[in-house]
Amino acid sequence: MNNHLLTTNHLTKQYGRHKAVDDVSLHIRQGDIYGLIGRNGAGKTTILKIISGLAAPTEGGFSIFGKTGRDAAPCMSRIGTLIENPGLYPNMTAAENLKLKALAMGIRKKDEIPELLETVGLKDTGRKKVRNFSLGMKQRLGIALALVGDPDLVVLDEPINGLDPQGIAEIRETLFTLNRERHITFLISSHILEELSKIATRYGIIHDGVLLEELDREELLARCSERIELKTSDTRGACTVLEAMGITRYKVVDAGTIHIFERLDAGGEITMALAGKNIRTLGITVKNEDLEDYYLNLTGGERHV
Ligand code: ATP
Repeated sequence: MNNHLLTTNHLTKQYGRHKAVDDVSLHIRQGDIYGLIGRNGAGKTTILKIISGLAAPTEGGFSIFGKTGRDAAPCMSRIGTLIENPGLYPNMTAAENLKLKALAMGIRKKDEIPELLETVGLKDTGRKKVRNFSLGMKQRLGIALALVGDPDLVVLDEPINGLDPQGIAEIRETLFTLNRERHITFLISSHILEELSKIATRYGIIHDGVLLEELDREELLARCSERIELKTSDTRGACTVLEAMGITRYKVVDAGTIHIFERLDAGGEITMALAGKNIRTLGITVKNEDLEDYYLNLTGGERHV
């Protein structure tokens, strides 16, 4: 079933000899909160800019609602964006900032601004000027600006960057509400998987401009679950031994590795049983990878602190 709202098709962006984005094909379904995760400089902003029409790709392109190139032009107004600086006017109130954006877009829906302020939790800011807002409030106003015009897809570049846990929780709630009640699809970037994991339903992991993996929340959590990692030269024989022991929740991940998701205390027993069938155990360890470790293993980086 193809219910993709947006796909990028072998997207490449080259600056001089450097490929900031290298052959990236993302698949964003209607209703997703899609998290684009990657370290600083991985190419996230560049991808978001191309999707938002703020930069042109060197090669490849993207489809929105199944439309590509010129045919996609009328659909671009269905994308709302907050990329890098939200471009707020510091001497104006939240409502005035929104009004200006609505005017610029030719929108005259009377109720839209109070509704937007309510949605992002800024309805009580009254005459307060934006220059006196906290970072979290500014970020929420940035999201409200991206929502002007009732878009189907909202693209947010690092919306949780620099926020404290309370600020992150507020953004999370806002996005959940918009996703559930107004059926808005989100594409958000972050360099911290742990934080993104509390929001996103699907992930694209990008490193040095290349898309390493695209996976659903459930798949990601399964990969990070507790397991025994068994290394052996005979995986087929080892599977027979595991089955004979009544172990069924396991997965052969490559020619020499099996992940076992039950009986985590049975390492010794498994080794003995394998030895009984002349199968050598090359390594057996219990692993409990957290999200950040998983991401770092994939990208070969150091832990974020
Ligand atoms: P960050 O979170 O730091 O913004 P990012 O993942 O969003 O990181 P990009 O901003 O997309 O990464 O940058 C990807 C690469 O492209 C980086 O190496 C960056 O230096 C380079 N780059 C981005 N814009 C330009 C430009 N206009 N000219 C030359 N190089 C650029």
